[in-house]
Amino acid sequence: MHIPFNKPFLSGKETLYIQQAVESGKISGDGAFTKKCHTFFESTFHFKKVLLTTSCTDALEMAAILINIKEGDEVIMPSFTFVSTANAFVLRGAKIIFADSRKDHPGIDEFAIEKLITPKTKAIVVVHYAGVACDMDIIMDLAKKHNLFVIEDAAQAIDSYYKNKPLGSIAHLSAFSFHETKNIISGEGGMLVINDEQFLERAEIIREKGTNRSKFFRGEVDKYNWVDVGSSYLPSDIIAAFLFAQLENIQKIQDKRKAIWNCYFENLSELKDKIQLPFIPDFATNNAHMFYLVCKNIEQRDALIAHLKSHDIHSVFHYLSLHKSPFYADKNDDKNLPYSDYYTDGLVRLPFFYELEIEQVKAISKAVLSFFNA
Ligand SMILES: *Cc1c(COP(=O)(O)O)cnc(C)c1O
Repeated sequence: MHIPFNKPFLSGKETLYIQQAVESGKISGDGAFTKKCHTFFESTFHFKKVLLTTSCTDALEMAAILINIKEGDEVIMPSFTFVSTANAFVLRGAKIIFADSRKDHPGIDEFAIEKLITPKTKAIVVVHYAGVACDMDIIMDLAKKHNLFVIEDAAQAIDSYYKNKPLGSIAHLSAFSFHETKNIISGEGGMLVINDEQFLERAEIIREKGTNRSKFFRGEVDKYNWVDVGSSYLPSDIIAAFLFAQLENIQKIQDKRKAIWNCYFENLSELKDKIQLPFIPDFATNNAHMFYLVCKNIEQRDALIAHLKSHDIHSVFHYLSLHKSPFYADKNDDKNLPYSDYYTDGLVRLPFFYELEIEQVKAISKAVLSFFNA
């Protein structure tokens, strides 16, 4: 039987809540279900304020506008990340300064950052890869010392923690994704978290096309006006209805995903001397966003993916180092980022989704072991 890489999970009430949203007569943004989602996140994860967006990409774009990124500003981030982490800042004219990944984990090497800081540096964007925290104390200290903003790309990091603090609650601003490949989904969807109070008022305005419409709806002004730049970043309440059904089941979803992750880890731990297995530092938790292996090189990786395909198992690789991408290779200074390239060439993600049966996890693990023991 074919095992796909991903399968979006429906917890049960998604279509019921969508129907309720539709029948309520208000299906544009900031309706009843959006408010329920906002309340859930603020009370469960103690985020100061959250705003649902149409994607994590949009939340990152809002962050770039909020910190006033302009032509020539420099933004430091890992090269081993999704394009949106960089694009959001490039759209505002920033120059991206790419940092390498850690040897033991694909996240940014916290000790590679300080030497990249110049008088033009405006922000550091960290990516909690696989939902595993970067060492945020080091990063926040650096930011304080050099007067920089920090943004967490927490797209993969729902329900994960750094020294008991929820990821997304630490930096000035954070961005989450509810794309169908994440733990909690709404098809497309995202969220901006505002932890620094100075951004509270302007974030609402930017999200509502540069108008103070949110204030108008709360009755705080008697007409709404064009007061700043902005765009349309708020999702329809239909999206929020879907998302809320997922949030009601977050514990159940996370428990099952952790069981899948632990089963993979137990079954594959004997490979630890042959290839790199996922690593969770002491300061971080595991939210079971994905299970990956890092092969020695691109040939071994391609052979593993082909071997799994012959067993009808769909595994995938990602990301391609952004500093070598066709769009950015000639825009960044010639730089050698060996660990970013190592993960680009070697990392394989195994099938990971709620409905994956433990028996299937064992079968996939067996297929992986047969490849390395051949
Ligand atoms: C998924 C992902 C994004 C993009 O999320 P969208 O909601 O699809 O815009 C950005 N960064 C990282 C690290 C991601 O994993």
